[in-house]
Parts: sequence; structure tokens; C-alpha cells
Amino acid sequence: MGGQAKAKLAQESENLKIALQENLREIAKSDQQEIATEWTIEDSEHLYRIKGWGEPYFSINTVGHVTVSPEGDRGGSLDLYELVESLRRRNIGLPLLIRFSDILADRIERLNACFAKAIARYNYPNVYRGVYPIKCNQHRHIVESLVRYGKPFQFGLEAGSKPELMIALATLEPAENPQNNQSPLLICNGYKDREYIETALLATRIGLKPIIVIEQLKEVDIAIEISRQFGIKPILGVRAKLSSKGIGRWGNSSGERAKFGLTIPEILAVVHRLQASEMLDCLQLLHYHVGSQISSITVVKDAIREAAQIYGELVNLGASMQYLDVGGGLGVDYDGSKTNFYVSKNYNMQNYANDIVAEVQEACAERNIAAPVLISESGRAITAHHSVLIFDVLGSSEVPRTPSLPGTEKEHLIVRNIRETYNLINEENYQETFHDAMQFKEEAISLFNFGYLSLKERAKVEEIYWACCGKISEIVKKQDYVPDDLEDLEKIMASIYYVNLSVFQSAADAWAIDQLFPIMPIHRLTEEPTQKGILADLTCDSDGKIDKFIDLKDVKDVLELHPLKAEQSSSNNVDSKDPYYLGMFLVGAYQEIMGNLHNLFGDTNVVHIKMNPKGHQIEYLVKGDTITEVLGYVQYNGEDLLETIRHRTEQALQDNRITLEEAQLLLQDYERSLRRYTYLVDSH
Ligand SMILES: *Cc1c(COP(=O)(O)O)cnc(C)c1O
Repeated sequence: MGGQAKAKLAQESENLKIALQENLREIAKSDQQEIATEWTIEDSEHLYRIKGWGEPYFSINTVGHVTVSPEGDRGGSLDLYELVESLRRRNIGLPLLIRFSDILADRIERLNACFAKAIARYNYPNVYRGVYPIKCNQHRHIVESLVRYGKPFQFGLEAGSKPELMIALATLEPAENPQNNQSPLLICNGYKDREYIETALLATRIGLKPIIVIEQLKEVDIAIEISRQFGIKPILGVRAKLSSKGIGRWGNSSGERAKFGLTIPEILAVVHRLQASEMLDCLQLLHYHVGSQISSITVVKDAIREAAQIYGELVNLGASMQYLDVGGGLGVDYDGSKTNFYVSKNYNMQNYANDIVAEVQEACAERNIAAPVLISESGRAITAHHSVLIFDVLGSSEVPRTPSLPGTEKEHLIVRNIRETYNLINEENYQETFHDAMQFKEEAISLFNFGYLSLKERAKVEEIYWACCGKISEIVKKQDYVPDDLEDLEKIMASIYYVNLSVFQSAADAWAIDQLFPIMPIHRLTEEPTQKGILADLTCDSDGKIDKFIDLKDVKDVLELHPLKAEQSSSNNVDSKDPYYLGMFLVGAYQEIMGNLHNLFGDTNVVHIKMNPKGHQIEYLVKGDTITEVLGYVQYNGEDLLETIRHRTEQALQDNRITLEEAQLLLQDYERSLRRYTYLVDSH
């Protein structure tokens, strides 16, 4: 091909490229127009993925508020925003944990219904008897409610320690006729000493049905000895270390090197010791626990397959096996993605029940042995949904997006340079100008460090730098493809929303193990959330923030939020009349008890809401810690502290360093604060 032809071809392809780009721009423009149409609640639903994680309990109503249907699809619903407003009018301040008791009831019913359905479907010749693992949320009202709601299903309790055993013993109701096999089970797990085993065994005498699960070899000897001493025939179980491993966060709590349970040789040793004491008929249960929040159904299947075989072998060895306890692990879909991502799960409750029932059914049929009572210790799946944490935004700080003053000729060269960069930014050069701006900013800092740039000039450079980032991010938003080096721009530009909350107290797992909880505004959902931000909590700890949010794929670094109304945006204005409420959902499992007193922010206020024919009522109100209470946890006595302050003001008065009014005010404030909630109090 001649030089001319080549040039012509190049010209043609260049023309084609330009035409293509124009086309693309047209398409982008029409997309833009679509975006410009009014924001709807469907957009909010989609953005916050509420259907994915919230169904059937949480949704959005026509006025753009989150609503709660505590009885799932079967009952009424209430407006969460209105509820919070009405609670605040009763002086119940934020942050506030709202529990919906009816959700607990619904979860228990659902779990039992799923197993009942699976049992019918596979003609499984035995029953399901769930137990609630107390460690998941030990609060009295919850355990009591669960025992009450669980009664029709003979739902029992699982204790993993001596204190939990003590709760179980007093909370579980003895069967009227313990002989008829209708009593709820009391599964006794965890490491046990003599006292634990003795207490558990004697519980038989008050009509309970304890099953002592052997987790360490020496426990079997103690159990044998105590049962002889009292002449009580115990029901014993063994916890097996399965070799099938969980994947994900708790993968290590199973497998041969797991912390808990007996290896196969140890299980055989238990069998022999019981045999030698003529107590092999006491061994009736096989238990395993692969770990919490199992994300993949494959793990569930592998574990039950292995356990069913061990169960069959124990029958063959002569144990009077009756129960197969599959432990916890039934997951919760925190991001609503229905995947095996660690905060999600790729199966539903019915799949879980089906797989367990089908596997055990098949294994027992093959061996021609009686099918066991199936037990699961599902905690997370029962309690996670029922609690919502509501907190308010105290203020926000945004990155400035427009450089203030117009430039002057007399400005420092570096200021002029970066200002020029700002003016030059366009759709063609945004990537290049981003790097220029970054470089000028870094140069400015070096100049400042050597004393060649004043504080005012440095401020200008930084301000213009942010403005460059803002302008570039507007351009990036319109592109289908974001270059790698600009991916962090969104994070750089994120606003900070200051929230009245301690992550360490209320969402410990978010801090400790990167757990994600769905977070969203509970009102203004008919408005487009035009800001992107992260949340910073009240503690003076740089980890006291939330900067990872649920997304369909993976995790996102910023959350879409609404701009604060005028009064709120002036930082830390807690007297705002137009509050912005955020909800953190699915926090009913593990968070409260794992929470800690970082910076001495204590327990939050808690209300239990129960639906009734007229709407809803407050079932219980548990006031959060006062400052005196948290000071007490670290051995300070409020009265003593006050006394010291009194002394000091007295001294200052005598020395004329304080006026009488000031002294009175200081003492009044101090005294009042001691009785106050540890969080920021508003005068709503
Ligand atoms: C933690 C635990 C459970 C509860 O697990 P979930 O995943 O919350 O259902 C059940 N059994 C044992 C032995 C546990 O340690």
C-alpha cells in the first residue's frame, strides 16, 4: 500500500473514531436525561438493596419512609420514622435500638415451618427440635420471648457456658409430663467443670431435659461419676470435629485442628469408657458446629454427609443414638446478594432444611437404622433481623468543590499553576489534569515545609486541589469506564457524616471483623441522595468509623446520603429541628454483647415494640447506661467524684478564682451529667 493510501485510511479511521465518539456522547446525554427524571422510592429500594436483605420485614412506603412489617407477610406494618419521632417525644433519646418481638416469633415459626416442610417432602420418619443458642443474644427479654414463642414447637435452649446454663435452667419451662418426650431440649455445650455437669444433671430433677455434650475427654469421666453419685441416668452427646471445613470467616472453628470437639479416636475412647461403665445407652446425641454464617450450601452439605456417617457408626457401636445436632451456621444475607460472599449466603432457609433432612434420610435408609430427631442451634438466623439501630447525624463535612476567590496576578506561582489546571480540566484531559493537580499539591506542601509558602497560600492550593478533584469526579461519573488511577477519587471526595453512635458499642463486628450491616436513611427516600459519604462515630478513635457498605458486587467505599438541611450542616448542631436519621439493620445477633465501652459510651436505649390489633405498643423500655453507670464499670464512684469537684470549687471560691454563679453552674452541670445518657443529648 502506498503512502497516500495509508494516509487516507488513517484519515478515514480517524473520522470514524470522531463519529463514534459523537455517537457515544449522544447516548451519554440521553442517559443523562433519564437520570434527570424524578427520583422515586423504587430508585431508593434499588440503591439501598432493601428488598435483598429486608424482605419480608422492611420496605419503603409512599412518603419515602422505611416501614417495618414485624409479622412478615401476615400482619400490619408501621412507619419506622414516625415510630422514632414518637419515641423521641417521650424522651427516649438516640441512639436507640428498636427490637421487634414479632420478628423473633416469625423467625422461629419460619425455621420450624421449613423443617416441617422438608420432613414432609422427604417422608422423614422423625421430627425437628430446634434450640436457641443463648450466646447469640443473651438479653433476658429476648431469651424469655424466644422460649415463649418456641413453646408450640418444643423449641429448646443451648448453653455454651456456666452463666448461660444458669439462664437456661431458670428460663426454660419444665414439661408438665417429662416422660412423654414433649419437653424442650436443653443442650449443654462448652467446656465443663464438675459444677457445670452437676448442675446440668440435677436439672433433670426439676423436669428439664438436659443433654450433656462431651467436648473434652475428661468430661465423660466426671459425668459418669456424678451420675452414679445421684443415681441419675444422663443423656450424653459428643461433639465431633469434622474434617470437612467451613469456608469464610469462621472456617477455622471446624476441621481436625478446631478448638472444640472430639477427634474420631477420642469419640471412640468416649464409647469405650461408657461401655466399660455400662452406660453406652446414655450416649444419644451427635453434635457438630462448622462455624457461624456459613455462606455456601456446599459446606452445609459436606458437613451433614460426614456427620450422618459418624452417626450411623455410633449406632453400630451400640450407642442408643437418638439425636443429630447440626449446630449453628444458618446464614443471614446482610448484603442481599444471595451469593457465597462472606456477608451473604447462596441458599435460603428452606434449602438448608431440605439438604439436612434429605442427607440424613438417605444415610439412615442405606444403613437401615432409625432416623434421629434433628436439632439445629440456629442463633443468627433467628435474632439478626429483629433489631434496628437508629442514630442521628450531628453534622457533616464536605470537601470544598469550588475554589473561592478569583485568582490574581500576584499569587504565588504554584497557586497560579494549580488554578490554571483547574480551569483547563475537560473531558479529554481529566486524567492528565488529575495528576497535574496532585503534583502541584505535593509541591506546595514541600514548599511550605521549607518555608517558601505561607499558610494562606497553602490553604488556597489545597482548596483548589479539592475543587479539581470535584470537577474531575463529575466528569468521571459520566464515563462508562473509570481508569484505575481515578478509582479512589470517590473515596477522596467522600463527605464525612458525624453520627451519634459508637461503632465499638453498637456494631462491634463492623470494627473487629469487617462485618457489613445494611445502613440507610429511614426517611427522605423520595429524594435523590446526592451526597456520598462515610460515617464517623463519636469516639476519639480513627477506627471509629464506617467506610465499607453493602453492594451487589463486593463492597462499596461510600454510602449515598442526603445533603443535610440547613441547621444540621453547621457542625455538631444537636439542636436541629430537622434531624437526619439513619438505620443500621440486622443487628440483632452478637453485636450487643460484643460491644465495648470505648471512650465510655455505654449501652444504648432499647425499646421492644409489639404489634397489637390497634397498631403497636412498647412492650419494654430498657434505658441505656448513664454516665454514673459506665464510670462505675471502671471503678469510679459518682458521689466521690462530685465531692472532689465540690471541694475544688469551694477552694476556688475562697481564692476568688470563680464566681458564685460559675461555681453553682459547674456543680449543677457535673451533677446533671452524672445522671445523663453517655451519648449526645438533643433537645428535640
Ligand atoms: C455460636 C454457636 C452457635 C450459633 O451459631 P449461629 O451461626 O449464630 O446460628 C451454635 N452452636 C454453637 C456450638 C456455637 O458455638
